[in-house]
Amino acid sequence: MLAEHEKLAREAAGRDEPYAEYLLRLTELEVAARTANAIAARIRAAGFPVIKEFDTFDFTAVPNVPKQKLLELTRRDWIDQHYNACLIGGSGTGKTHAATGIGLALCRLGLRVKFTTAANLVTELESAQQQHRLDRLLGALERFDLLIVDELGYLSFSRSGAELLFQVFADRYERASLLITSNLPFGEWGSIFQGERMTAALLDRLTHRCHIFEMNGESYRFRESMKSKDDKAAKTAKPKK
Ligand code: ADP
Ligand code: MG
Repeated sequence: MLAEHEKLAREAAGRDEPYAEYLLRLTELEVAARTANAIAARIRAAGFPVIKEFDTFDFTAVPNVPKQKLLELTRRDWIDQHYNACLIGGSGTGKTHAATGIGLALCRLGLRVKFTTAANLVTELESAQQQHRLDRLLGALERFDLLIVDELGYLSFSRSGAELLFQVFADRYERASLLITSNLPFGEWGSIFQGERMTAALLDRLTHRCHIFEMNGESYRFRESMKSKDDKAAKTAKPKK
């Protein structure tokens, strides 16, 4: 506000603006600056690996994904209703990109979002447990309106790691939202959590009130790299006579 104050004051004086209006404009500027700062702070706190938005998301690459339904996750209704969301699909199908787009949009709506990977979360939980500060970590996680757990399924966990992850998921059940991405269909989650009983109990809670998206299709990464190879080939190919 101070940075803009002088410019505004000159303008106001030049136009003979009433003092109250000038103050109002100054206050509006201050509020806008604070809102922008708060959003930037929430985005930093969320810990997104890269900043990816939906404006660069090509829905034609995933024709099976209902576009409007996925975009609805950028609104806060599902968070308010403590729904979960799962994005399931092979590598490179845009799960992390979409999860980040959703998280960013919700940060802008004033929600507290945390982005982590399953492997990182388990490591953090295990070290917190060893250092007798698990309760504190669980308490910190509870304060997020949305916990995004990316890449569930690439690594399997030890029994104790799986139990800790289960605890986080169970704690949020009907109280706060989770967004999970996984390369594994639900039927194969037993291999992550070791043991049918824990997997069944977890899936039961996770999917009870859940928006599920199957991001099938070929890998976008793969497709893009093939395209650029084709382009290069086309460029280096000798023109036909
Ligand atoms: P996943 O998490 O499913 O393995 P990513 O979201 O990391 O896949 O996507 C891999 C790369 O391809 C990223 O750079 C991402 O931005 C891009 N990408 C994937 N799907 C799309 C899409 N539908 N539109 C635009 N870019 C995409
Ligand atoms: Mg990913």
